[in-house]
Amino acid sequence: MIDIQNYLNGTLQAARSGSYLDNVNPSIGEVYSRIPRSGKEDVDMAVEAAEEGFKVWSNMSKEARSNIMLKIADLIEANHAKLAEAESIDNGKPLKLAEHVDIPRAASNFRFFATAVLHFSSESHDMDGQFINYTLRNPIGIVGCISPWNLPLYLFTWKIAPALATGNVVIAKPSEVTPMTAYLLSELCIEAGLPKGVLNILHGLGGEVGAAITEHPKIKAVSFTGGTSTGAHIAKVAAPMFKKLSLELGGKNPNIIFDDCDFDKALSTTMRSSFANQGQICLCGSRVFVQRGIYEKFKTAFVEKTKHAKVSYPMDPEAKLGAVVSEDHMNKVLSYVDLAKEEGGTVLCGGKRKILEGEYANGYYIEPTIIEGLDHMCRTNQEEIFGPVVTITPFDTEEDALEMANSVEYGLASTIWTQDITKAHRVAAKIESGIVWINCWLVRDLRTPFGGVKNSGVGREGGLEALRFFTEPKNVCVSL
Ligand code: NAD
Repeated sequence: MIDIQNYLNGTLQAARSGSYLDNVNPSIGEVYSRIPRSGKEDVDMAVEAAEEGFKVWSNMSKEARSNIMLKIADLIEANHAKLAEAESIDNGKPLKLAEHVDIPRAASNFRFFATAVLHFSSESHDMDGQFINYTLRNPIGIVGCISPWNLPLYLFTWKIAPALATGNVVIAKPSEVTPMTAYLLSELCIEAGLPKGVLNILHGLGGEVGAAITEHPKIKAVSFTGGTSTGAHIAKVAAPMFKKLSLELGGKNPNIIFDDCDFDKALSTTMRSSFANQGQICLCGSRVFVQRGIYEKFKTAFVEKTKHAKVSYPMDPEAKLGAVVSEDHMNKVLSYVDLAKEEGGTVLCGGKRKILEGEYANGYYIEPTIIEGLDHMCRTNQEEIFGPVVTITPFDTEEDALEMANSVEYGLASTIWTQDITKAHRVAAKIESGIVWINCWLVRDLRTPFGGVKNSGVGREGGLEALRFFTEPKNVCVSL
């Protein structure tokens, strides 16, 4: 049994409460480690440490900060196998996915922002030679970073790296459901020589330590990724304190497949966009809309492929889907399959818990599921399920597809499949989402703005957007 520790003021330590929470391995349904149950006292201590850390970190040159961050990136890469295995055990995702996506991306996040900040510049505005304005971009100070369980180290570092690169100090909270790789990152930060107090990682429950971070008056900005209702709660607390907020929230993404698409490419990518990471990626396309001319052909092929997608324990190299993250989450996802049936849907494949053999018999596995025959306005098609469950719906015209796609309260990502370039751009312009993929999915350039519209969030991460979020602009006007 491993006891995870907080990373506070440069050292690994238990929470002040001395109590721990259980951490479950979802692939076997058993507790395998314990998480410090941190609270307000730990946040107070972290803030004190961060205040001291800020004096050191914000006075270092960009290059010196960048070098330490690059060292962290190197260490993530050097520990690739260990981190990938830890992520896979903690989250239930196939090891291959953690090896190819989660851990390389965590290293890239550090590397990208460590170097991006060296090229970051600010504006100047000349007033006809009479005056000149220039904008300084200073670090905010102490910032809070709160992340979810679906892509644990990937999303954790996506926030921490730009915050650190711009000279801030950070109090970060990973999800209590998947704390392990954040803990291992603490060890790597110590090894890389990150000055104490610059990054503090506190573990525990959202309503306790997460709330204490959000409420602390000295934490001036909060970058949050998670569910829409949690985001709304955080906004309610942080807004009257005038904290800067970045909220990356839920999604219910449409995948629009026109008759004239590259059929094979659309099919194989739809398999991934539906079921990668057990459908637990905020960018997964959970509503598949297929134009009538190819609907039956696509549906048949999609169901056939899905029936053959192997659900297995995470270390199985053949696994296409591993375990979902927790028992609660499994039950929530399965309850949506029941709801879909009540709402008149037909389960074309999957729809049940999958029981594996031997030591994995109590793991939280769900068969990949496709549901047909639902109205686009029903709850199954409106609410985020966040599991390996998609609906498939035919459409006739471009207008019909857009109306159904835009009918939800979310607006994170969307995918469009067509060979007609004009139509692709037209639909992309009209679709209500922060991210649009045309004839591809989950292609990520870290320089691009990342985030959603409507109830999928406020603000953007990525590239310059993140560097701007984590800095405070100050305009200086000089008389010439
Ligand atoms: P969640 O909202 O339950 O938790 C996210 C984080 O917030 C966790 O660390 C949690 O402990 C913390 N938290 C919970 N209550 C809190 C509170 N009152 N104050 C402060 N912190 C609190 O979300 P989750 O279940 O971990 O993640 C799944 C959700 O995340 C899905 O809705 C998914 O769409 C969303 N998500 C969005 C993106 C994006 O980029 N838009 C990316 C990944 C996941």
